[in-house]
Amino acid sequence: MRRILYLIILLPTLSFTQSGLFQYKETFTKQDTLRGSITPEREWWNLQHYHLAVEVFPKTKTIKGSNTISFEVLKSAKKMQIDLQEPLQITKIIHHNSELAYTREGNVYWINFPKNLLPKTKEKITIYYEGKPIESQNPPWSGGITWRKDKNGTDFIATSNQGIGASIWWPNKDHSYDEPENGVLISVTVPEHLTNVSNGRLAKTEHNEKLKTKTFHWVVKNPINNYGVNLNIGDYSHFSEIYAGEKGNLDCNYWVLKHNLNKAKKQFKQGAMTLEAFEYWFGPYPFYEDSYKLVEAPYLGMEHQSSVTYGNKYANGYLGRDLSGTGIGLKFDFIIVHESGHEWFANNITNVDSADMWIHESFTAYSENLFVDYHFSTKEAEDYVIGTRKAIKNDIPIIGQYNVNNEGSGDMYYKGANMLHTLRQIIDNDDQWRNILRGLNKNFFHQQVTTEQIENYVSTKTKLDLSGFFDQYLRTVNIPTFEYQIKNNEVSFKFINTVPNFCIPVKVWINDKLTWLFTTTELKKIDFNENIKSFEIDRNFYIKPTKL
Ligand SMILES: [Zn+2]
Repeated sequence: MRRILYLIILLPTLSFTQSGLFQYKETFTKQDTLRGSITPEREWWNLQHYHLAVEVFPKTKTIKGSNTISFEVLKSAKKMQIDLQEPLQITKIIHHNSELAYTREGNVYWINFPKNLLPKTKEKITIYYEGKPIESQNPPWSGGITWRKDKNGTDFIATSNQGIGASIWWPNKDHSYDEPENGVLISVTVPEHLTNVSNGRLAKTEHNEKLKTKTFHWVVKNPINNYGVNLNIGDYSHFSEIYAGEKGNLDCNYWVLKHNLNKAKKQFKQGAMTLEAFEYWFGPYPFYEDSYKLVEAPYLGMEHQSSVTYGNKYANGYLGRDLSGTGIGLKFDFIIVHESGHEWFANNITNVDSADMWIHESFTAYSENLFVDYHFSTKEAEDYVIGTRKAIKNDIPIIGQYNVNNEGSGDMYYKGANMLHTLRQIIDNDDQWRNILRGLNKNFFHQQVTTEQIENYVSTKTKLDLSGFFDQYLRTVNIPTFEYQIKNNEVSFKFINTVPNFCIPVKVWINDKLTWLFTTTELKKIDFNENIKSFEIDRNFYIKPTKL
């Protein structure tokens, strides 16, 4: 998820360098740096586990709880950074039965241990906090809590916090480079007539008849990104099925509002279809230990790990629309397919820095056409991904600014998808392409990665130097222009509007004969040995053909 936000982001000042590489400036604050970089106060400790225990009070729209953070000390230190956004407040921090001192700097808490913690030791602190968290104005694009009622007037509550960060509702190390290796226990207390659904598996429900509350304990065994942790509270019904997948039986659990049960039983058949298509292309579902879930939420949807939230109104398309304009987008439920695709790219392979969020969104936007390819046809898959080109803006580069929690252009969706689709054509071997997609998920299993790691992996596996290719599409806003001229038997061609080392083979049909033109920024000529009557460039390449 993440699309529409880009419509409201302020555009930075743009400028081009002589080489065509893009430079842009944006003003960032110290708070952005504290949020978006691996500060010394984060670096010295490695997350092991969170136990988040929180009570939700719908009447006052407040929450109160604690987070017990288990961590390993990597380097001797005594000052720790924990993030919790205003207006929530930490009330107490406990370490070995004594209270720790702390100070606040905006959304950052500086915790002071009385003396240095020793390397290789395992430590634990419990942070108590409370308050009235920010209410989301436009979920999931603006973060916070959504307090709604279902059509029977029952509370329907959810968290969403991609971008703004999980620290908008719970205290944690709010940076994607570090995930709790041993997962999370999420214990949520709500009024007794409500059910809470979070990530992982429901281990236990406790009913406190005196206080008229229920506490739901959800266990996540795998590492999880902060923004994936979520609460969904409502009058839920549950149904399930077993999907026989690559790693054995995967339990699929569906939680929907009671009055939507019949619609959900029909629409959520696409859950298993999605798993089947993506296990084929990407390898085993990455979280068998935590189950697969679709959970109805009071907003469109989000890739919450093992708890994909759904609000697409039980209809195909994107709120009934087809983003590609070809009609093919109406053949599947966009939210089930796209958000489940993120289980591989975002939840399994996570960006270290949000500037590299194309790793989440380009592959996942691309996964939509792989779903079509698997269940319908390659032709329709091509129509779909090519159709989405109309959404490309080429406003700012796909890669954002590092260390300040900044994301690049919304082109990380469909320009990214078309870049990957172009790469598939260049590789021209679907077995190899599929092995690369599966290899990424195996090689970087449950890891946080950089763009360079992805680039190097693909270049190594294809034995191609793709540095110019990735530079062009990820780091500039220019569409490579393929200039060509035909005279009798001869075709001349080159790329302009590219970085200097941009060179790819382009697939063309000359007099209906398939020909590859190895194209660089230098003018080349080939003699075709017969008069050229027709010349057609493969539409699957995201380039701009122009006659000289
Ligand atoms: Zn997405």
